[in-house]
Amino acid sequence: MAKKKDKVEGTDDGGGRAEGTTAVTTAAPFTDALRVGEGFVLAGVDPRSTPAFDGDKEAGKAALAAADEELDHLQEQLFAMSRAGGSRRVLLVIQGMDTSGKGGIMRHVVGSVDPQGVELTAFKQPTAEERRHPFLWRIRRALPGPGMIGVFDRSHYEDVLVVRVHDLVPPAQWKRRYGTINTFEKGLVEDDVTLVKVMLHISPDEQKARLQERLDRPDKHWKYNPGDLDERARWDDYQEAYQALLERCSPEHAPWYVVPADRKWYARLAVQQLLLEHLRGLDLRWPAADFDVEGEKERLTGL
Ligand code: AMP
Ligand code: MG
Repeated sequence: MAKKKDKVEGTDDGGGRAEGTTAVTTAAPFTDALRVGEGFVLAGVDPRSTPAFDGDKEAGKAALAAADEELDHLQEQLFAMSRAGGSRRVLLVIQGMDTSGKGGIMRHVVGSVDPQGVELTAFKQPTAEERRHPFLWRIRRALPGPGMIGVFDRSHYEDVLVVRVHDLVPPAQWKRRYGTINTFEKGLVEDDVTLVKVMLHISPDEQKARLQERLDRPDKHWKYNPGDLDERARWDDYQEAYQALLERCSPEHAPWYVVPADRKWYARLAVQQLLLEHLRGLDLRWPAADFDVEGEKERLTGL
């Protein structure tokens, strides 16, 4: 994507994202354009916008395909370094309203990486066993091992989203969780986890269109859940809950990234690029051989 750099324009769209991104060329344009910073306002982000990318759908799809190889390469290096004792791992957290495109991210972005290097976990309503433990219990068990890219389809943030909106626990309890989450994530970062937290931001109109499509197409009925309409009815409460977690759980070392998601092609490209930019920042290398390469070549010749 290096060739794209000079075409990138900053796109502070008034959402309170990082200052000074206007027309600036940076090494990590998506990271800079999408990061939640001081004074962030979710309602100020246009779900149809395409920050850090000025191409159309066709160009976006081409860019996505073009970057597959580098993603694959970096993932392999991450994995190789863990074989040589490296402890670095990556955790991609994906949150978003129903139909925001979480499944498409799994298929089109995560799906292009070697499955041996990916640990994907989808968090549903807690099971009876999970309910007997603190909310982070099932999260800790799902953390990626060294060299792996962990992907969370929903996450511990459900415990300050659906739980908050539906009063599943008393307010005093969910209110404590923002602090608990920040402490937990700080520990992860100190433990060599590179956290990439992404919220897929769609508009209510786009959600309506996607739900309509799920109803109109028999091949999409399996994706439809009547409960989605009950959640949709609480749209404003969810936006408020998202605003709260974006604001309260975006410290310097583990910020959120808000990805406008009304255009599926853009959301996929943006998540891929966020992942890539974070991987590039890890200074990954092929580990040096822990054996005598020349000596082994000689031995092989003689056998
Ligand atoms: P889906 O991702 O569409 O398959 O739906 C999973 C459902 O599980 C969503 O409605 C989530 O809100 C719900 N869910 C996930 N985590 C929790 C949680 N900690 N407490 C209650 N519901 C949850
Ligand atoms: Mg669903």
